[in-house]
Amino acid sequence: MSGFWSPIVHTLTPYVPGEQPLVDNLVKLNTNENPYPPSPLVLQAVAAAVNDSLRLYPDPGAGALRKAIAAYHGIRPEQVFVGNGSDEVLAHTFQALLKHDRPLLFPDITYSFYPVYCGLYGIEPRQVPLDEAMQIRIEDYRIPCGGIILPNPNAPTGRTLARDALETLIAEHPGQVVVIDEAYVDFGGESVIPLVGRYPNLLVIQTLSKSRALAGLRVGFAIGQRPLIEALERVKDSFNSYPLDRLAMVGAIAAFEDRDWFETTRTRIIASRERLAANLTELGFLALPSAANFVFARLPGYPGAELAAKLRERAIIVRRFNAPRIADYLRITIGTDAQCDRLVSALTDIVRQAG
Ligand code: PMP
Repeated sequence: MSGFWSPIVHTLTPYVPGEQPLVDNLVKLNTNENPYPPSPLVLQAVAAAVNDSLRLYPDPGAGALRKAIAAYHGIRPEQVFVGNGSDEVLAHTFQALLKHDRPLLFPDITYSFYPVYCGLYGIEPRQVPLDEAMQIRIEDYRIPCGGIILPNPNAPTGRTLARDALETLIAEHPGQVVVIDEAYVDFGGESVIPLVGRYPNLLVIQTLSKSRALAGLRVGFAIGQRPLIEALERVKDSFNSYPLDRLAMVGAIAAFEDRDWFETTRTRIIASRERLAANLTELGFLALPSAANFVFARLPGYPGAELAAKLRERAIIVRRFNAPRIADYLRITIGTDAQCDRLVSALTDIVRQAG
């Protein structure tokens, strides 16, 4: 606390990211990173861009990257907004499109950055409970609101909604922006990008951090019709003209060019997820069906905090949220099969000791 702070700083409850410990031989399954490296084409492109041109500012409009994303998704470059990770794109979205007189709706169990942005931008949140099966029920969103945001698949549950259900939600709120955060969609969700042309109130946000293994490069983007994208551009150009550096832009373009790498690695992660879920079920865990690169699971009768601590003693870290309804769940990022096997053997050991 300091008298030097602007008043709002005293009121903030910042987001707490998963830890990044530097420990040898750690099995790191806590922040939904990709266990495989980025495409070799990305590494080559970034290495080739480490040259004298770093003297110059990057393209403030990120034209080449927006063109690559538009070509990939079959839309126009003007419908794409890029930012320094999807967290930054989300932040601009909250400020540019979601601050209205009525509250912003999002699930009670969801990405924990959403309430943080509400605090930063003075937006009134209204959390809509998931149903007993930890699923989003779109009928529960039929209430007056200033906007809606939800991840699909949802985090940390991993549960997904079909495009048809989301289309109903978007169509039922023609006067509000509906933001679908598709950070994990490439692992089994159905993207709503094909709906953008029909719904002026739809904004879709994606990231290269998960399915393209580029969490360290910080690239995210939004897709929507021009008036929504223009609002994001106005906020961005009132904040930071150059959110993406030269290396991030060339790396991201190369990531979209290497479709084979993307397909091979994401297919492998999906297969490992199904294998891990089956192993956890055999051990007595209840795992929610997941369409993401993580599973959300609990062991009945075993406190989540204790389980996470016992795993940590064995150099395996997972994420746990100390929040109502989910305190006993572990969110386990899908690693390589070898990493998942280490986790399962540690859990087998822990369960045996308990019994
Ligand atoms: N949305 C969701 C639902 C997430 O889980 C994350 C990752 N923490 C993000 C957005 C942000 O990812 P990034 O800033 O790396 O693009």
